[in-house]
Amino acid sequence: MVIILLGPPGVGKGTQGALLTESFGWERIATGDLLRGARRDGTELGRQAQSYMDAGNLVPDELIVALVREHLKKLPPERGVVFDGFPRTLAQAEALDQVLPEVGRKVDAVLLLEAPADVLVKRLSGRRSCPQCERIYNIHFDPPVTEGTCDECGARLIQRKDDLPDTVRHRLSVYRDQTRPLVTHYEEGSTPVLRIEGDRKLEHVTRAIRRSLVKQLGVEA
Ligand code: AMP
Repeated sequence: MVIILLGPPGVGKGTQGALLTESFGWERIATGDLLRGARRDGTELGRQAQSYMDAGNLVPDELIVALVREHLKKLPPERGVVFDGFPRTLAQAEALDQVLPEVGRKVDAVLLLEAPADVLVKRLSGRRSCPQCERIYNIHFDPPVTEGTCDECGARLIQRKDDLPDTVRHRLSVYRDQTRPLVTHYEEGSTPVLRIEGDRKLEHVTRAIRRSLVKQLGVEA
């Protein structure tokens, strides 16, 4: 099973992707998390990605495709995969269409999560993340027990540079111009696009996703 989580920044792809991997035992490949990990580890990839990420721009396709290919090749063939934040451009989607058959896979469905722009801006500007375990909080809707501290690992929470208001607006326009058009790419290729309303309580979104996967793809709940 290969699922692509598609949607604007702040719509909840990370949270829902993590819940899906928990319930179905799938592997989540989140390129944003992998890039932040590379930056923390001080690798060459992390160094190359840094300025793009801080400005809310996309990291060049060839770096991202190489990263994803490397991860896919390491996975046992029977393991389901959820892509979160990838592909983000048509070139990445086309590269994925080539790489998947090399590992005996294909895209089974796209889960398109959407919410109005003002909701996304509010969510992103309230977002705080744990630099250590990547857990995400929101000071408005889902605060940690102790202010500024991760419930899971005790690390000091940070606000990502790219969650500052001007950068958020730029990221939303990058999504609209470069990533949203991928819906057409998948629809034209007859890949099911499952539309999920993301402007609801987290557990309602999770339930809608599960229902849709069970009904449309026969995934066992
Ligand atoms: P995310 O955590 O998914 O919002 O990603 C954070 C940042 O990492 C993005 O704003 C981009 O700079 C970079 N990034 C993550 N995934 C990709 C991708 N598939 N293509 C290009 N850049 C990416």
